Amino acid sequence: MIGIIVECAEHSDLPPKQLKSALAILDDTPVLDTPQLYLARWAASYYAFPEGEALSQALPALLRKGEEADFAHATLWRATANAALEQLSGTAVRQRELLDLLLRNPEGVSTDLLRVESIPVNLLKTLQDKGLAESFIHRPSPVHAEDRESSDLLREAPLTLNTEQQAALQQINSQPGFCTWLLEGVTGSGKTEVYLQAIQQTLTQGRQALVLVPEIGLTPQTLARFKSRFQVPVVALHSGLNDRQRLDAWLLARQGSARILIGTRSAIFTPMRHPGLIIVDEEHDLSFKQQDGFRYSARDLAVLRARQEAIPLLLGSATPSLESLHNAQAGRYRHLRLTQRAGGARPPAFELLDIRGETLSCGLSASLLTRMQQHLRQGTQVLVFLNRRGFSPSLICHQCGAVNECTRCDARMTLHRSPPHMHCHHCDRQTPIPKRCHQCGSDDLRPSGAGTERTEDFLQDHFPDTPVLRIDRDSTARKDAMKHLMEQIHTGKPCIMIGTQMLAKGHHFPKVTLVAVLDADSGLFSADFRGMEKTAQLILQVAGRAGRADHPGEVVMQTRHPDHPMLNALIRESYSAFANSELQLRHAAGLPPFTSHALIRAEATHQGRAEAFLRDIRETMEAQLNPPPGSHWSGPFPSPMEKRAGLYRAQLLIQSRQRSELHQLLRHILHFLTQHKGRNQVRWSIDVDPLDS
Ligand code: ADP
Ligand code: ZN
Ligand code: ZN
Repeated sequence: MIGIIVECAEHSDLPPKQLKSALAILDDTPVLDTPQLYLARWAASYYAFPEGEALSQALPALLRKGEEADFAHATLWRATANAALEQLSGTAVRQRELLDLLLRNPEGVSTDLLRVESIPVNLLKTLQDKGLAESFIHRPSPVHAEDRESSDLLREAPLTLNTEQQAALQQINSQPGFCTWLLEGVTGSGKTEVYLQAIQQTLTQGRQALVLVPEIGLTPQTLARFKSRFQVPVVALHSGLNDRQRLDAWLLARQGSARILIGTRSAIFTPMRHPGLIIVDEEHDLSFKQQDGFRYSARDLAVLRARQEAIPLLLGSATPSLESLHNAQAGRYRHLRLTQRAGGARPPAFELLDIRGETLSCGLSASLLTRMQQHLRQGTQVLVFLNRRGFSPSLICHQCGAVNECTRCDARMTLHRSPPHMHCHHCDRQTPIPKRCHQCGSDDLRPSGAGTERTEDFLQDHFPDTPVLRIDRDSTARKDAMKHLMEQIHTGKPCIMIGTQMLAKGHHFPKVTLVAVLDADSGLFSADFRGMEKTAQLILQVAGRAGRADHPGEVVMQTRHPDHPMLNALIRESYSAFANSELQLRHAAGLPPFTSHALIRAEATHQGRAEAFLRDIRETMEAQLNPPPGSHWSGPFPSPMEKRAGLYRAQLLIQSRQRSELHQLLRHILHFLTQHKGRNQVRWSIDVDPLDS
């Protein structure tokens, strides 16, 4: 077993036979430096997660497996300086063969190569004893030559900032120590340019910058933008790296030679020798919160880390989370605003299209189709956005109305066309398409609901001369598929893009002049109190794809609630107007960010068992603790989707006015849970600051 020593004590309260000896110490220098250790331990305590596992997750996988904290290296062999073939007798054929090979490869030969050449490896020893061969450690440089640091940090000149950008940058640069900035800037307002110039100052001071981006945002284009600006090693930390590459990147950061680190959530744990700046781009993005196991929020940990390292933190978004806006209003963060699009592009015009009583074809109304036609005729591109929820097509029996459902989940199976099969998006179960209704036996089974594939077919029929490009998880699963799609889009020729959330982030589509949101209503009446916020963010993010550069854009949203106050605040006023009224509602309802939530989830193979387990927790805690007056229990209730992947799920929500009260309570609960006799029949987890319910 590999463990991490965090402290040494003279005495222990545990009985000696429960204590284990360390058999070997694997590293001479601590793998986690003081700020890292503090961050990981703090996070473990805050998120009520076992400290050992939290520490282990803060380390690259190879270190967890006991690998040395060192760059990739190999032992190679070469001939000594004066070695010559004549020094071997003519009869020593194999030795001569080996020496010849070494002489021909002065950069070094691996024992693997000898095996390939069928030369016995032990002959190396023979040559070494004769003073003809020697071994050496070869370390390939983990930094590509073209990425090496140069005395001139800039590869290209920075843009001349507009007044708002200039003001933001000046403020940021004027505060060298810890400070959290909330940079709220509409899409296309040039937030990235502000990041780049703030980083420039960091680099000039000889320090490093850490940039966190959403999972979907770490595209080659993002990386290219940083690399083309600076002549310093830029290291990306993402899920595509293998364990070795990850460790090398981590080491480069730790020794200070990686000057800019760009990564997704887990990069928050990367050590930096000379930390200077942390940036969290699209700070509202849900992917910064880990959704299983160690449920930390990288954005929230960034605040702690920046304070610990005494450096500035920049949170950027066009649609900041209500949490961050609240923190800015309370004076904990400092608010910077970019209200204009940079480079002269005009903001898109919004329109609510009332579809009450209209006939829809695959989710599209006749007036929307006419509008699309107009844009395509003028030679521009159209983006059709489907909110996945409610749009996945299912199979329904035309005789009795029975729907094809997953046997393991409380959910419908989704119908897929290529290859034809039914797929449960919740547990990944896949089956062939049924021929007959499971209930009445009829063979009249029909697809219902408009999935991306069906909408794609429909649009292709309706606009036979225009390419229709589907961009979703299925169409981009194959390697390079996304690249080919993007190439086609960037030719600028008229086309229709149709897709889901994937379209909302990271990509710029300069030729798109019309964004059509097929269902603006989903999320308006959601049981999740964050439904509104998520919908508003999504709509603005998608809208932000349109009308860059010289093409003014138009965003048309189909709705059955054209008078809905939230939709109207969003499009007639601003995101801030929407956010402020939403914050008032949250305040009145006593919801986050005005209170703190923790969700205890449990699941079990038998219905009712998870719920009973949670009820026991609640009752015991209430009896034992005299709960603090600010804390409020809600539940246990069955989870919104009670059955999933064959397990029955329930949840218990705790809401507190004071964060400290919540944590006090959680400590008791955690203690109770680890002793509970039913704990082996139930799988449980604690989610502090949950983002979904
Ligand atoms: P955001 O990150 O806020 O969405 P970007 O930084 O991507 O915005 O900027 C949008 C576009 O505007 C980019 O093409 C960028 O090159 C351009 N841009 C940004 N700042 C300026 C500026 N000061 N002058 C001219 N163009 C700019
Ligand atoms: Zn039927
Ligand atoms: Zn399922």
